[in-house]
Amino acid sequence: MPRKKEVVSGNFSKYDAVVIGSGPAGEGAAMKLAKSGKRVAIVDIREQLGGNCTHVGTIPSKALRQTVSSIIRYQRDPMFKKVGDWKQFTMKQVLRNAHKVIQQQVDTHSRFYDRNNIDVFHGRAYIQDKSTVLIFSDDGIKETLSFKQLVLATGSRPYHPQGLDFNHPRVFDSDKILDLDFPIHKIIIYGAGVIGCEYASIFIGLDHKVDLINTQHQLLSYLDDEIADALSYHLREQGVLIRHNEQIERLETFDDHVVMHLQSGKKIKADAILWCNGRSGNTDGLGLENVGITPNSRGQLAVNDQYQTEVENVYAAGDVIGWPSLASAAYDQGRCAGSNMSGEKDVKPVKDIPTGIYTIPEISFFGKTESQLTAEKIPYEVGQASFRHLARAQITGDTTGELKILFHRDTLELLGVHCFGNNAAEIIHIGQAVMQSGNNTIKYFVETTFNYPTMAEAYRVATLNGMNRLF
Ligand SMILES: Cc1cc2nc3c(=O)[nH]c(=O)nc-3n(C[C@H](O)[C@H](O)[C@H](O)COP(=O)(O)OP(=O)(O)OC[C@H]3O[C@@H](n4cnc5c(N)ncnc54)[C@H](O)[C@@H]3O)c2cc1C
Repeated sequence: MPRKKEVVSGNFSKYDAVVIGSGPAGEGAAMKLAKSGKRVAIVDIREQLGGNCTHVGTIPSKALRQTVSSIIRYQRDPMFKKVGDWKQFTMKQVLRNAHKVIQQQVDTHSRFYDRNNIDVFHGRAYIQDKSTVLIFSDDGIKETLSFKQLVLATGSRPYHPQGLDFNHPRVFDSDKILDLDFPIHKIIIYGAGVIGCEYASIFIGLDHKVDLINTQHQLLSYLDDEIADALSYHLREQGVLIRHNEQIERLETFDDHVVMHLQSGKKIKADAILWCNGRSGNTDGLGLENVGITPNSRGQLAVNDQYQTEVENVYAAGDVIGWPSLASAAYDQGRCAGSNMSGEKDVKPVKDIPTGIYTIPEISFFGKTESQLTAEKIPYEVGQASFRHLARAQITGDTTGELKILFHRDTLELLGVHCFGNNAAEIIHIGQAVMQSGNNTIKYFVETTFNYPTMAEAYRVATLNGMNRLF
């Protein structure tokens, strides 16, 4: 077990570095600082480590999705269908698996702190001045930690607009949805960003009716157009009703349903609403004013390339600094912050980040889109591999999907990799590795022997397809 310190009145401890928040950013920073020989403490409000990432964000949503994917897989497999009709699963049932995974993750991460001799405090951290953090427990008892350096890794929470009562049992955000414990048949998902689209996949996979309200004109407009179109097509095909360019006017709540009124005059009735429109940085009540740090209107902090805030000994990483708000990047940002704080030279900030979107089908990309390359007048060519032609996909039955590579038609340099379909988030890393290697050329995919049958074969197929277009 980690070296959990009981918060008792009047205790005072001295540290080289204190980290607030035990999500991926805080963990990345704490581990790096401890390995650099510093005496480190980490503070989190929760009774368990892991941050929002483990308790309400990445981990539960991905565990949920995995369960739903398995249900879909069995439903479509005639061999399993014969065993018996698949009953409808409730959210509560599928959440059981998620809670198991959360506990496993908490245990794993707790061991890291123990092994690295990092002291763990549970309570609300409040910055008193440039060298002191106070920790408040529920009953107000306080611990005082003095520090030379501080890392703010307090993460983010769902944005709550005025006029929506999130205490109503039928009004949910992405944190509260994990406690949904009554049956629903239809849900409104407001906000079609990554979280909204992922939950649309989960609920439609559970055979619920889903209205996905998008405030923009297309889904995830930063995706390659073809992939965004594929996502819209597949969500619609599964039964999701997507409404673009809509804005909420008001929400009426009743004991047994909700009615959303849109500014366009439409009215939608459902059993519940899941609000997925925006997140705010967790900076209020942190005492930032005591050290002269001012967050922006979304509660986010500005940092330089070293992840240092405007105050010299205070660093910040993860969702609390805004883009890209991904667990993957948060961990690396935390590590970079820790490296800079330890005096390491030439630490590169986290810039080239792959995108993984766990809708069903899954989406992932790295590098540039076709629209970007066209706007930049780069002479690129396209290579495509449809999953339905790959032996591995035919064996697993995951034939929906495509790998698309974009490469320079003269130099054969790989410029972008776009994938949708099962395991897209894994498949993309092969392209990423080649793009970031010293020898970035698509020739690698035809001159290298890959295991067979694998989904990696898609790279060879896409390369041959693309090369056929060259003249
Ligand atoms: C539904 C959902 C799905 C997601 N899916 C993915 C995904 O698939 N892949 C991906 O890369 N990212 C995903 N994300 C994003 C990812 O979860 C976040 O980017 C990540 O959690 C950010 O990590 P963090 O370390 O910045 O902070 P967090 O994980 O938010 O942790 C911050 C911690 O600080 C604590 N804290 C805050 N204030 C204080 C205080 N004053 N005192 C003490 N403790 C405090 C909080 O309680 C929390 O435990 C998802 C997010 C959501 C909501």
